[in-house]
Amino acid sequence: MFGIFGISRHKDAARLAYLGLYALQHRGEESAGIITYTGRKVNSYKGMGLVGDVFDEKAIKLLRGSLAIGHVRYSTTGSSTAKNIQPFLVNHRKGHIAIAHNGNLTNAAKVRRQMEIKGSIFQTTMDSEIIAHLLAKSKETDYKKKVTEAFLQLEGAYSLVISLNDLLIGSRDPQGWRPLCLGKLDGAFVLASETCALDLIQAEYIRDIEPGEIVFIHKGRLESIKPFPKTNHAFCIFEYIYFARPDSNIFEKNVYLTRKRLGQQLAIECPADCDLVMPIPDSGTYAGVGFAEQLGVVYEIGMIRNHYIGRTFIQPSQFIRDFRVKVKLNPIRDVLKGKRIAIIEDSIVRGTTSRIRVKTLRQAGAKEIHMRVSCPPLRFPCFYGIDFPTKKELIASSHSIECIRNFIGVDTLEYLSKDRMLDAMPLARCEFCTACFDGNYPIKPCKKMSKDILERS
Ligand code: 5GP
Ligand code: MG
Repeated sequence: MFGIFGISRHKDAARLAYLGLYALQHRGEESAGIITYTGRKVNSYKGMGLVGDVFDEKAIKLLRGSLAIGHVRYSTTGSSTAKNIQPFLVNHRKGHIAIAHNGNLTNAAKVRRQMEIKGSIFQTTMDSEIIAHLLAKSKETDYKKKVTEAFLQLEGAYSLVISLNDLLIGSRDPQGWRPLCLGKLDGAFVLASETCALDLIQAEYIRDIEPGEIVFIHKGRLESIKPFPKTNHAFCIFEYIYFARPDSNIFEKNVYLTRKRLGQQLAIECPADCDLVMPIPDSGTYAGVGFAEQLGVVYEIGMIRNHYIGRTFIQPSQFIRDFRVKVKLNPIRDVLKGKRIAIIEDSIVRGTTSRIRVKTLRQAGAKEIHMRVSCPPLRFPCFYGIDFPTKKELIASSHSIECIRNFIGVDTLEYLSKDRMLDAMPLARCEFCTACFDGNYPIKPCKKMSKDILERS
């Protein structure tokens, strides 16, 4: 999962990209990069770490130019090298191509192999590099035809922000897996994964980039084309459940209100006999609000989050077990002691952090712990850009709910059903991809990709 940003024709392009990425930090904490273009020269600055650590005033000043694109990257298993930091930049005979990509191409391995047979040399292991090759190879002189020709060869999930010299391009794949919105600031067009990035820079939200749409932003004008055959949408439902920021609107609807409705549905479907409702902060907070409200039970924040934990955190002692998890959240004994509590979690992935949390709640004196999860069991790997662990590591792919309950150590464990989850969504059910819950993959990945994802460990 990644966050992307683009702005064209603004004198503070790099600074605004920096701020935009700051707001999108939750979409990727591993690395960050910005590429700017002055009209003659391309500047690039990238690094491993958080946006605030990668860039300083000097870096922003170096990034001259009125066009900027930026990217934050999530840590994905096995590929965390400096080479893979985006935006991906190539120089070729006609200038530069810079790409910021969110999503996963399902035919990447196949297209790449075909290209390598024909002599292409790849610098990275990223599927996004394929897009650069396709654009550079195209013999079309008209940029719209060039981009269309390249994109028609892609399959799978891609929200893209691309700079082709002084042209800024934004696009979403025809299924629309990942979000991308369009805004305006001081007359300059802005593209961002989520509206929270527009809010921070005080850009006005204009609309979402539509599934299958490509926008070309050039000299302050925007042209839009939709060259793909019409197809069903497959918006990622997990964006609403966990990934996006609650203050964002994605797919044109607010995330917070959707999570709250998930909690309400959860209380209707799987109520709990309890003295208080509490979330596992922060991700369980919003469903927790809806759950408590629907159940008519008091909502307490029974665990407090330490907000000052960076990635460079050093394990201080071998003697404090599970330190990483513990330092992040500390339970409040006086709230929990002797109580029957319902804890609300947005999702269970491996079950390992939940297990540690529950243990600390028990130590704090909770009498009964009833866990309610605001989505169904995650059973299938995602091929469209969410970096779930392998099928082996997704606890619900191979264990019964009773087994998971026992592993996590709660008195009862219930999940929201797929039907109720879809009821809570702000869009029609047919708009969503629910493959991680039901294995119905809208586009089957090519063999190599599914083998890699299923076997990776
Ligand atoms: P588990 O108990 O399965 O180890 O962890 C569950 C927690 O992971 C939940 O609180 C959920 O918010 C969080 N989570 C869900 N999806 C993702 C993801 O893709 N990446 C990360 N880092 N956390 C996730
Ligand atoms: Mg969480």
